[in-house]
Amino acid sequence: MLVVDDQVEAEAGRLFRALVSVDCVPGVTWDYDACRRIAPLTLEINRLKRERGAVILAHSYVEPEIIYGVADFKGDSYYLSQQARKASAQVIVFAGVVFMAETAKILSPDATVVVPDRNSGCSLADSMTGEQLRKLKALYPDAAVVCYINSTADVKAESDVCVTSGNVYDIVQKLPERRILFVPDRLMAENIRTELKRRGSDKEIVSSDGTCIVHDAFDAPQVALARARYPGLKVVAHPECPPDVAAAADFVGSTGAMMKYVKETRAPYFLMLTECGLVGRLQVEAPEKHFIGGCRLCPYMKLNSLEKVRDALAAPRPDQIITLDPGVSRRARRSLERMFELAAAD
Ligand code: SF4
Repeated sequence: MLVVDDQVEAEAGRLFRALVSVDCVPGVTWDYDACRRIAPLTLEINRLKRERGAVILAHSYVEPEIIYGVADFKGDSYYLSQQARKASAQVIVFAGVVFMAETAKILSPDATVVVPDRNSGCSLADSMTGEQLRKLKALYPDAAVVCYINSTADVKAESDVCVTSGNVYDIVQKLPERRILFVPDRLMAENIRTELKRRGSDKEIVSSDGTCIVHDAFDAPQVALARARYPGLKVVAHPECPPDVAAAADFVGSTGAMMKYVKETRAPYFLMLTECGLVGRLQVEAPEKHFIGGCRLCPYMKLNSLEKVRDALAAPRPDQIITLDPGVSRRARRSLERMFELAAAD
């Protein structure tokens, strides 16, 4: 009994040291008592992980207790898809949203891939079906079809190449076709147009009409107000934001690039125009930086919890297990592999 208590106290101490500086979600803090309450759960999950030969991949937008309590790999879509591709684990728990777990299943077809909550959708991925893309492709037969990784397996299967927010500009620029059909993010398509024009490229970008409900909600007047209040402020935005917001930012990049920028930039304050989970990660990994709020919560990402991770590991329900049509999976993998090839090419 004493040994168990000692283990819990040691785990609570580990969690507290990692999470004490996080206050990105209003009303939620990780004081020692909170860490003491979740410590038995993180111990159980880490034990189950060893017993099942599992790895836990956690997107930067999920709760910090998942990222710093139980995740083996944490990061953005591109990094996590690379880890899924390399994984030799029998079980992959994907704490993120369903399209990410589908991507892991496409890249590691022999692993059992599970999601903590099947309802963790995504306004972008859910904005387009494979059938809708097939109809759109028929209107633009000469276009290269490029899908953002925030898309379903069916949409990836219909695409020539997949991209992430970290490699989208370079990959679109490298494609030989002049006309690009980019799905499903309308705002990112507008940002691609702006960036390629800046690079002197004359590609035509046709897009569909999806948006991320988190990043679409930021606006340029909010940025102007923040700059007036906080002299020296650096504004950091994701390319899923509207173009006028991206234009008003000091830096625009993927979640991984945003983290790097903040860590390497000296400024009195930062305004992060993205999901609050990224601010939480920075509060842990760059505690000397100051953030002025303004981030937003993704309701889908926040469906993940330690309890659901534990349940998915211990005895996954059928709805937590990702299954894909083998033909769809094979064709979707081609678009992902082409992304890895183009991302690696000079
Ligand atoms: S933050 Fe936006 S793009 Fe990411 S999962 Fe949530 S809705 Fe989808």
